[in-house]
Amino acid sequence: MRKFKTESKKLLDLMINSIYTNHEIFLRELVSNASDAIDKLYLKSLTDSSVQVDQANLAINVAFDKDARTITVSDNGIGMTSDELEKNLGTIAHSGSEEFKAENAQSQGDAVDIIGRFGVGFYSAFMVAKEVSVTTRAYGSDECFRWTSDGIEGYTISPVTADDPIYRAQSGSDIVLTLKDNTDDVSYDEFLSEYKLKDLITRYSNYVRYPVKMLVTKSRQKDKPADAGDDYKPEWEDYTELDTVNSMTPIWKKRAADVTKEEYAEFYKSTFHDWADPARTFSLHAEGALEYDALLFIPGQAPFDLYSRDYEKGLELYSSNVLIMEKCADLVPDYYNFVRGVVDSSDVSLNISRETLQQTRQLQAMSRRIEKKITSELGALRDDDREAYEKFFENFGRGLKYGLYQSYGSKKDELADLLLFWSAREEKMVTLAEYAAAMPDGQAAIYYAAGDDRERLAKMPVVKAVLAKGYDVLLCTADVDEFCFQAMRDFEAKGLPKAYESDEAREAAAQAVADGAEPELEDRTLELKNVSAGDLDLATDEEKSAAQEATKANEDLFNAMKEALGDKVEKVAVSTRLAGDDAPAVITSEGPVSLGMEKVLSAGPE
Ligand code: ADP
Ligand code: MG
Repeated sequence: MRKFKTESKKLLDLMINSIYTNHEIFLRELVSNASDAIDKLYLKSLTDSSVQVDQANLAINVAFDKDARTITVSDNGIGMTSDELEKNLGTIAHSGSEEFKAENAQSQGDAVDIIGRFGVGFYSAFMVAKEVSVTTRAYGSDECFRWTSDGIEGYTISPVTADDPIYRAQSGSDIVLTLKDNTDDVSYDEFLSEYKLKDLITRYSNYVRYPVKMLVTKSRQKDKPADAGDDYKPEWEDYTELDTVNSMTPIWKKRAADVTKEEYAEFYKSTFHDWADPARTFSLHAEGALEYDALLFIPGQAPFDLYSRDYEKGLELYSSNVLIMEKCADLVPDYYNFVRGVVDSSDVSLNISRETLQQTRQLQAMSRRIEKKITSELGALRDDDREAYEKFFENFGRGLKYGLYQSYGSKKDELADLLLFWSAREEKMVTLAEYAAAMPDGQAAIYYAAGDDRERLAKMPVVKAVLAKGYDVLLCTADVDEFCFQAMRDFEAKGLPKAYESDEAREAAAQAVADGAEPELEDRTLELKNVSAGDLDLATDEEKSAAQEATKANEDLFNAMKEALGDKVEKVAVSTRLAGDDAPAVITSEGPVSLGMEKVLSAGPE
């Protein structure tokens, strides 16, 4: 018996006694090791002509024995010599083991998270097995060896002779796990089922390049006997067949032109458990220092728990076709939390053997690019298929507005053009750019009114007054709208007809256009103005001074009103706000916080 190195023992101890519940990743680790071993043999054959590999036979096999309570993962890859067994399975080969130990000493929680995030390779077998044996023969060797261990103190390595039931005549390995005894909390027997193992293979190893085969039970109709009478009823029988369980070619590596819309939709629905087709599917193939493929989907409907605390955002993260994380939250910003998809990078390692910091930087680089891509795809959906976009916005628009608010407006460049609001004049959803493009000469701000009910907002005297002036008003009924506008403060409208300083300049420009010149355009920053807060500045100078005079002339009356209303109002005055309307009075606020917003704020958190 040889003893494990101390650092390995630490990790093994953690593994065996892990409170980490995701035991099932052991299969993923063993299958990807098998795939690596086949890769190694295959690569050898490419550079060494004496190495002959029958490509069609390269495969991984998964089997189980209910009575013996074993699971076996076999491959016909490169195998290991007895020295390699010692070197590879006797120590945990990872540079960060010191760091890992430190973390482990501090808190089990952190270490456990590492298992969940990156797996710890071969040793994860000890999460479910009380004994593991590796019977292996290295390519080109005439000897077969077996490594066995209970994962606690140490291991043994001994030669295996031809009379042994798992002797290997050809290169490759058989990893046999004898499952732990069931406890009150965990039943390891659940892994001894065709259904469960198939499920794990398709979930975690579906895109492994080599076939992962299993004996699968099937049912077929028996042949009709020759002497069967008219009343013969067809009989069925079960039989088993070695089947390839994984799909092998990752759909995200294929070129979009080679995949049908239906195939993408099927993949989306089965992978992300949705019954509706995605609203949009798009992919990304990054090359260079950091290579990855991403296949992303905008769902066609909002998941029922999207706005609940339990909702988890994130994309599936693969490393060379092997799933390492089901919801990698770092890959998408919160306001794109609805995006589903897969990111696969061979540069992200499956193991904790590489620096975690490096991983973080890689994830950040990917997430920046992915965010940009999502933004441009949503823009394309808005421009190509407005109806679909409006439906999308109904589902997920709140999150976008919330993103603007939460980032204090710093995400304006990404998000502002994706927003839709109800136009009081057009009576439909419009973008801010469309609003700006429809502005008459002289309008210098975007006006909006916020409240619970669209109809009621449309009847507000101040809304009617602004509309009467020829300016459109956005009617906002979502709780987040006003906060979103507050955070944005203004909107950068692109390519508006140029606003001229003087009548002469305007006429000269009109003449130039009449003579065949292109109309002059400019970008303009438009303030976002709440019609019921602050001074709208819509009145002409004459109207303003008339209002001031009227306030002065009726000073006594207004003072008396202020006195009667006491603390309920700040002041009473004649306003130009209602010019041309039939409402005699209005309650309003000064400063940026509208009455509606005040109501939300004073209601406190939900
Ligand atoms: P990693 O796969 O990241 O190297 P593991 O703990 O999963 O780490 O495996 C440790 C090593 O054991 C591998 O690097 C490989 O050399 C060896 N190994 C494991 N499984 C096999 C196998 N089925 N065939 C050949 N070598 C294997
Ligand atoms: Mg491995």
